Amino acid sequence: RIGTAALAVQVVGSNWPKPHYTLLVTGLCRFQVLQLLKEKPYPVAEVQQLDRLEQFTNGHKSEEELGELSEQFYKYAVQLVEMLDMSVPAVAKLRRLLDNLPREALPDILTSIIRTTNQEKLQILDAVRLEERFKMTIPLLVRQIEGLKLLQKTRKSKQDDDKRVVAIRPNRRISHGSITEDEEEEEDHDDVVMLEKKIRTSSMSEQALKVCLKEIKRLKKMPQSMPEYALTRNYLELMVELPWNKSTKDRLEIRAARIVLDNDHYAMEKLKKRVLEYLAVRQLKNNLKGPILCFVGPPGVGKTSVGRSIAKTLGREFHRIALGGVCDQSDIRGHRRTYVGSMPGRIINGLKTVGVNNPVFLLDEVDKLAKSLQGDPAAALLEVLDPEQNHSFTDHYLNVAFDLSQVLFIATANTTATIPPALLDRMEVIQVPGYTQEEKIEIAHRHLIPKQLELHGLTPQQIQIPQVTTLGIITRYTREAGVRALDRKLGAICRAVAVKVAEGQHKEAKPDRAEVVEGEDFLPFDCKEHVTEDAKPESINDAADLALPPEMPILIDFHALKDILGPPMYDMEVSERLNQPGVAIGLAWTPLGGEIMFVEASRMDGEGQLTLTGQLGDVMKESAHLAISWLRSNAKRYQLTNASGSFDLLDNTDIHLHFPAGAVTKDGPSAGVTIVTCLASLFSGRLVCSDVAMTGEITLRGLVLPVGGIKDKVLAAHRAGLKRIIIPQRNEKDLEEIAAHVRQDLTFVLAACLDEVLNAAFDGGFAVKARLEHLNSKL
Ligand code: ADP
Repeated sequence: RIGTAALAVQVVGSNWPKPHYTLLVTGLCRFQVLQLLKEKPYPVAEVQQLDRLEQFTNGHKSEEELGELSEQFYKYAVQLVEMLDMSVPAVAKLRRLLDNLPREALPDILTSIIRTTNQEKLQILDAVRLEERFKMTIPLLVRQIEGLKLLQKTRKSKQDDDKRVVAIRPNRRISHGSITEDEEEEEDHDDVVMLEKKIRTSSMSEQALKVCLKEIKRLKKMPQSMPEYALTRNYLELMVELPWNKSTKDRLEIRAARIVLDNDHYAMEKLKKRVLEYLAVRQLKNNLKGPILCFVGPPGVGKTSVGRSIAKTLGREFHRIALGGVCDQSDIRGHRRTYVGSMPGRIINGLKTVGVNNPVFLLDEVDKLAKSLQGDPAAALLEVLDPEQNHSFTDHYLNVAFDLSQVLFIATANTTATIPPALLDRMEVIQVPGYTQEEKIEIAHRHLIPKQLELHGLTPQQIQIPQVTTLGIITRYTREAGVRALDRKLGAICRAVAVKVAEGQHKEAKPDRAEVVEGEDFLPFDCKEHVTEDAKPESINDAADLALPPEMPILIDFHALKDILGPPMYDMEVSERLNQPGVAIGLAWTPLGGEIMFVEASRMDGEGQLTLTGQLGDVMKESAHLAISWLRSNAKRYQLTNASGSFDLLDNTDIHLHFPAGAVTKDGPSAGVTIVTCLASLFSGRLVCSDVAMTGEITLRGLVLPVGGIKDKVLAAHRAGLKRIIIPQRNEKDLEEIAAHVRQDLTFVLAACLDEVLNAAFDGGFAVKARLEHLNSKL
């Protein structure tokens, strides 16, 4: 309860980067707290003064009283001060003070100067009686003197002339080892020494070491209250932490890698083959300056998880860097240290996180980098990804080169269209197409369902999802190239089942349970009727009785699906929509995979205008104009007429073409053949076959040119239940990529010109028949 009254003389410091203040106070006297009046916002107390200040003015009296003791103390104090370097002004001043100050003040002053613990200092403060205070301080002085003697002995051998008080401070610790805890400043100083030691022992590059030593020299001279102190320290700490020379050992065995990849991922044969080739080359040639792999495909097809598997097979650390929406090049390269709040870029940060210099870095969504006023992050990535350059990657924050050549970079993207060409050029693109229905079913049963069961704490004894149900989810509740939505739907089912299982566990008595099962509410979960078309209702009726025992798994049938996921979101509407002329089915490619698209056309009286709707890009608009021009120039050949029987198709006629869905922007030349077919149907009044889909670019001469994304488009057509697909002849090679069972279900028409397209799109061909009919009628 004893404290020191003091007068604050000066406050220095700042709030940034963290609050750090230095207070200069002049001590006045000791006091004792009698009663605490209030604690907040600051303590207010009634105190009693303990030191009698008049003693100081009247020195002689007390000197007599203490006599011996004070004389002894004075001697020790002089001995101590004289051991220090008198040329230092602070020491000389202290020496003068010893003579000028009243003796009673000396114990307090010297205790504050010599090396003691806070506890010892507090004891001196607590000693109210002067005599007691002298007695307590003398041993401390003696200890300090002994310590200094020891120090001087050890120093003699070394030529060290810097004897300033500040400089010998850290070494004093040797004299009495246990003093560490409370002296923050000292501690900081020690930290700097430690940091220097770490820098010297770290395996950083020569250039980096030079910079660090320079910085640490500056740091030593810098007052801690300076904002730059914290910055420099952070910088040095990062430099020490970076894995300059630390790496994990690759364990590479192709056979094991193949097993890991196969176990983690079903299908994706092409991707797995390429990855294995890559790994095999790595096994043969140790430090491969390999190409950077870039997996391009729709979301949810397993690009990221393949990256993770590669890290697993190599036994390397894995780190994912999400680049979606990054629009500042400092995100990649860091800020210069001159900026407020500067920090290293994501690459260096990632290295610090993983702690080794050969991790697998997954650059996720490289196609979604954006440009802004803060520069182009894609340009910054160029240096990172170039195997010829990245051994000396320089982050702006570090300002020294770091070798990235050991890092294995894998990029992922949804489309290559938005990746800047220079960046694309540095990567080897591997297309990861969407999955077929059959593949999705396998993925669901091998990977997704077991994963979801585990996530929800369920066992296969509690829930059973037959393959037909999975197919139902895939066709009616999801429409995607990957399996993410499927995974979510399976999660929803598991959640619903978890509720039932948890409820069931509380029902001990069997009869109760039977009642619930028979009740209407529980219908979806018992296995009564309507499991699937091909399931046998009788056996399921039996199953209803069997469902009574508690250990019976809950079977997910279509009723249960409807109850949990709601009514089906997608329906097969193919045959329905083609019951009037002027509609054709096209195939479109989107970053989400392939899709089928109904192109609609209608005509009305007008002045020969063409209206296009459905958010079309320029290329698509051009395709529409091309299609109309070709049809107009060939109208006679095909006997196409407008409403009034004229071969000039646009005479007094307006045409409207629409491409659903209206909210999605579309572009590209591949809708050309679909537009021609759709318009041919409109002008001839004949229906396009309902089971035909088509894709291909057209020219004015009526040629059909090849287009991209054939595999995705074919898969989409297959998903939608179409039977015949018209593709450009020069795309024939792309069909090899398509799984055999999908090819079996479909008939492909390879068209080199528009005649062939029209012949295939209409029942019984187009050109010949149409002409004959017209000729007949004219006769
Ligand atoms: P992407 O990066 O392509 O968007 P992810 O790698 O995040 O997709 O994959 C989404 C989910 O789908 C993951 O949980 C992954 O395990 C699963 N998945 C995707 N493809 C497969 C596959 N072929 N086999 C097993 N699981 C898969």
